[in-house]
Parts: sequence; C-alpha cells; structure tokens
Amino acid sequence: MASVPDLRVDGGRLWRRLEEMARIGATPAGGVHRLALSEEDRRARDLFGEWAASLGLSVSVDGIGNMFARRAGTDDARPPVVLGSHLDSQPTGGRFDGPLGVLAALEVVHTFEEHGIVTTSPIEVANWTNEEGARFPPAMMGSGVFSGRFDLADALRAADPSGVTVARAIDRIGYRGAAPIGGRRLGAHLELHIEQGPILEDAGHEIGVVTGVQGTRWFDLVIIGEEAHAGPTPMPRRTDPVAVLGRALVGLYRRVETEFAPHGRLTFGVLTATPASRNTVPGRVRVSVDIRHPEDEALDDMEACLEQETERACAERGAEWRLDSVWRSPTVRFSDRCIAAVRGAAEHCGYRWMPLMAGAGHDSVHTNDVAPTGMIFVPCEGGVSHNEAERITPRQAEAGANVLLHAALNLAGGGSRGPVSCSATNPSPGGPA
Ligand SMILES: [Zn+2]
Repeated sequence: MASVPDLRVDGGRLWRRLEEMARIGATPAGGVHRLALSEEDRRARDLFGEWAASLGLSVSVDGIGNMFARRAGTDDARPPVVLGSHLDSQPTGGRFDGPLGVLAALEVVHTFEEHGIVTTSPIEVANWTNEEGARFPPAMMGSGVFSGRFDLADALRAADPSGVTVARAIDRIGYRGAAPIGGRRLGAHLELHIEQGPILEDAGHEIGVVTGVQGTRWFDLVIIGEEAHAGPTPMPRRTDPVAVLGRALVGLYRRVETEFAPHGRLTFGVLTATPASRNTVPGRVRVSVDIRHPEDEALDDMEACLEQETERACAERGAEWRLDSVWRSPTVRFSDRCIAAVRGAAEHCGYRWMPLMAGAGHDSVHTNDVAPTGMIFVPCEGGVSHNEAERITPRQAEAGANVLLHAALNLAGGGSRGPVSCSATNPSPGGPA
C-alpha cells in the first residue's frame, strides 16, 4: 500500500472503464452517439451505477436525473466534496468529453477504497443530466436546475425535435429519482475535463489549472437596406445590407485580431438575407454574433467595437442597423481554494501545469453559483472535441485523475487510514424507479 502522498490512481483500470463506457452508443468512426435521456444514456447510467455499487457507494438520483454516488466521510454531516461531469454526448461526439470526469472520479474513490483512505467529508461522484443540450436545450440542464439557475418545470417541458419532452424521456428510461434537486450544501465541486482546445498541447503542459470560464455574449445583428433589382440598379445607387455587412466585418475582424488578441473570439454562425432571391439585392440581412473574452470589461469593449464598425459601415451607405441582445453569460471566476487545491495537486504529482480559462460552458459554471468550484483540464489531440476524432492518451487521463485525487483529498480533509464502512452510514438513496 502506498502512503498518502505517494497515492496514485490505477491508470489501466481507468482506461478500461473509459473504453467500456465508449462502447455504449459507439459509432463506426470511433466516437459516441449517446444523447441525453436516450436508451444509450440509460445504459451508460446503469453501468456507472453498477460500478459505483460494486465499490460500496450508495447511488441517489434526483428529480431531474442527476446521479450522486456517495462514499461516507468520517464526519458524514459535513457537506460532500462532489467530483462530477457528464455521460451524455453530442450526436457525433467524442469518447472523453464528460465520461473522463465521471470515471476518473470513480477511479479516485476506487483508489481510496483499495488503500483504506478515509476522508473527513463525504465524497460524491456526480453524473449531471444533459450537459450537452444537443437533444434538449438548454445545455448544462441538470446542474442548472440543481443550482436554481433553471426552473424545473421549464426543464421538464423542454422537447426534442420529435416532440418528446424531458419529462417523458426521463420516465421512459426510469431515471426520475426521488432525491430532492439541490437545496443542500456542497463542500466543493471539482470537474476533470478535456480542454477541447489546443492551448495545453501547444504549450507542452500536462495539466490546466482552470481559473474560470470566459464570458459569452450573443446578439442578432440586423442591417436594413433597400431591395432592388439585381440587373438595372447601378452599384453606387444601392443600399445593399450585404455590402454594408462586408465592410463592417473587415473592420471588426481587424480590431478583434489586434486590439483583443489573443483572447477575444468573434463568430458569425448564421447569416440570413431576405427576401433570399438570387436576382434581388436583399433588403435586410440578419447575422448571429457570438463574442467571448475572459474579462467582462474587454467584452464591453468588444460590444462597443461591434456597434462602432457597424455604424461606420451603415453611415457610408445610408443603411440602418439594430443589435438585439440574445444571451449574456458573464465571466466565471472559480473559487481560490479550489484553484489552489488543483494547482497544489499538480505540483505535488510533478506534472507540468499552467493556469487556463475555459473556453466553453461546463456543469461547473452552474455549481459555481452554489459551491466552491474548480476544474482540471488535460490536453486532447489537436484540441479537437465535439467530434468523433476526439483523442487523449491513457497517460493524459491518468495525470488528470491523479490531480483530481490529490485536490479532492485536500478539500475533503483526512486521508488517514482506517476501516471504511460506506453503505452502512449512508442515507437511503432515492434511486431510479
Ligand atoms: Zn463536456
């Protein structure tokens, strides 16, 4: 048996579990199709539940399907340290986005069991419902209802493209549990996740100590010109909103790539011209705008830049414009205590690490509302994610799990050896029907 400081997870066991999980909903191209609350999700949940039970953990399920596998602490009245992520995937998703965090957490608990490590606070491994939002919007649903950011009734009413609601889907797979949703204190929430970007790989680092999540603002930009015949109308006589947009974009991209480099992000994902006729100069163009930055002040400046460049381009051609705000997600700062625990664990294990802001949303954004929260990133090949080609190595998975283990030990306290009796002291689970 290793002493507590020398304690390391069993990387081979973690990898075998990741591979077994990846067989559920496996696609021919090597990814997974495991949409939230589908039959594949049910099988993934069942497998996770079996593994947790075999370690003596008691599994509870709440009213939106979030699963918590609990290992008692020596002071079981303390709020638990929760280690969680998600088992659902994008329609053509990768094998590690989500499952790495859940199964590494399970491996941490397995390692504690194996070495007789007891923690002062209880530890819970969480599988949050519908993180991806690919079948039922919005994303990060289970953690959002847990934290109180989303309304339960709204979430249960959300429907997939074929009209099946979350309420019906969750009952169909038998995962509407009896445990109350949220309303209890968590000592901390830690999430291990693949980076989904190229920064760690490019820098040659093994661990990202995530300090927060960058802010995002969504808009619809509408530019209004004048419809005209594509043939007889000379170019100088047109008030063409597409021409105006083109000029605005040139200025915008130049400024975002200079004034807001390297962190600013600018994306126009949906462009619609009306009346959408090949031989008519459009009267109006509508584009979706997604801007992101790790600092809210810089986001303010990017928004102002968007307005200035649009105004300048419109004024040249006598066009009008409107910017409608669709969604704003402020920058998230994780807990100093959790960041320090993750950094300390990475140093303790001797991994090359760097601080990093997350570029995408995670369940940890929501748990951060109600609990001290932190995240650990490991690199993924080429930064590729939300893609069947998503890849990590067994060694990268193991490094992330080792950091998760020592950060969890730090936050949960204890680590002394002793007889462990998990299931005997646990409250009765609100399991699936
Ligand atoms: Zn994810």
